Amino acid sequence: MKNPIWRILLALALLAAITYGFSGFQAAERGNELKLWFFDVGQGDSILLDTADHHQILIDGGWGSKVLSELSKALPINDKEIDLVISTHNDADHLGGINEVLKHYKVDRIWLNGAKHSTKMYEKFIALIAKKKIPTTVVTAGKTVKFGDLEGIAISPLTSFAGIMPQNQNDGSIVTFWQYGSSTILLTADAEAPLETQLVARGLVRQVDILKVAHHGSKNGSSEDFLRAVKAKIAVIQVGKNNRYGHPAPSVMTRLKKLLPKILRTDTDGTIRFDIWLDRYSYQTGV
Ligand SMILES: [Zn+2]
Repeated sequence: MKNPIWRILLALALLAAITYGFSGFQAAERGNELKLWFFDVGQGDSILLDTADHHQILIDGGWGSKVLSELSKALPINDKEIDLVISTHNDADHLGGINEVLKHYKVDRIWLNGAKHSTKMYEKFIALIAKKKIPTTVVTAGKTVKFGDLEGIAISPLTSFAGIMPQNQNDGSIVTFWQYGSSTILLTADAEAPLETQLVARGLVRQVDILKVAHHGSKNGSSEDFLRAVKAKIAVIQVGKNNRYGHPAPSVMTRLKKLLPKILRTDTDGTIRFDIWLDRYSYQTGV
């Protein structure tokens, strides 16, 4: 075409066709399954629950901006809204990526543990919440959330961390239990053995299908009593290749292998996605 305006219009029409075609294809492909993503964000945690009717819950964001490319793989190109972000605690390998998400996505609400931290990253998090006027809930055990057939409950922290500067930020970890049909999921954030012991003693830990291993497989977590109570069918460790903390600890790997039948890890398996129907689930690695 000689007229450049027509060329531009044609290019725009093609772009729209590709964009809508792509998101339409994703929507058509989608059944009624819940998608549970364990993103490979290097050393850190970032987990997405994506329901069939397009509600999203993001639990932690890893350290940097890797979460953004992972989210763009997981969600349709035109979906820039997340219903709920759960910031399990304020350490950098969980919080840093949340700040990136707050800049690029519309986040409807945030669960946080209310603890303070001395880092610039934490100050930025609080400033972004204020700037974007995002409603927040300071969470303690018993707080629930429901999107269709997906139900979640926080089982930790057992006491409020509101306004507290904890010696160990991990002690305030928001631990969540999820149920979708017959499948159950436990996401332990960076809980350590003393917290695990309290949760088991109070009868808050039950058998689950999928366990996010506590604290990247640190030697401070995944006690034998806790693993025996959870009896997970599949354990997922979110951990970076050759990380400087030596995660996961060899002693924890030995315990996990002894007590649980299947272990996946993001440093060797890459991003892991579970497709969960009301009566069954399957998973894929290297997604
Ligand atoms: Zn961590």
